[in-house]
Amino acid sequence: MSERKMGLIDFVFPKNCFSCNKQGYYLCPTCVTRLKHAPTNCPMCGQYNFQGKTHISCRQKYGMEGKLACYSYRGPIKKALVQMKYHYSYKIAEELARICLIEVKSYTQLINNCVLVSIPTKPRRYNWRGFNQAEIIAKVWSDELNIPYLDNALIKQKSTLPQARLDKAQREKNIKNAFRINAEKQEALNKFENILVVDDVWTTGSTMREAGKVLKRNGAKYVWGITVAG
Ligand SMILES: [Zn+2]
Ligand SMILES: [Zn+2]
Repeated sequence: MSERKMGLIDFVFPKNCFSCNKQGYYLCPTCVTRLKHAPTNCPMCGQYNFQGKTHISCRQKYGMEGKLACYSYRGPIKKALVQMKYHYSYKIAEELARICLIEVKSYTQLINNCVLVSIPTKPRRYNWRGFNQAEIIAKVWSDELNIPYLDNALIKQKSTLPQARLDKAQREKNIKNAFRINAEKQEALNKFENILVVDDVWTTGSTMREAGKVLKRNGAKYVWGITVAG
């Protein structure tokens, strides 16, 4: 998307708080303090576990070690995420990433030698890069928290239906084999002990678990998921 086109979208989409309508923010500082944090659930079974770690009984060979969803996916944060996708808004994505910085920082401080990768949204077309909210979020976290980010480490190799319209079983089937590792990034990936996979929302976790599986099958030691909401 060109700078000019992005500017136009920002112009027609005014910046007002999704909660109180205050100008200048998508989520103003006051409303951010009122957001609910997401429960720390095991990424494999969805039940509570300390720090969102995978229960010992839920561990799998190609399973994830844990996940962090910063905020509960409801209210103004849900509205902001839906509008972000609908309007392809870089600005909303960046602002949402920034309100997660404290949570992401404290989480990643527990994990040494880590790298961020993002969930790809669409199969990569020749010479065309579309709006990818996960990539925008990952870049903000990388820049602000000084964590390396490997772009295009995961490639989407098939088209999928929007996960939101499907039930849990259908989601798993839909996303199965959707990703592969970008061969050009494999060597760089192997240098890190912990891979943190970034996405905007955690719902059933099937997308994240599938990405984790692909990373682990290709030599990743530990895989964690991080999302804005869940
Ligand atoms: Zn507000
Ligand atoms: Zn579990």
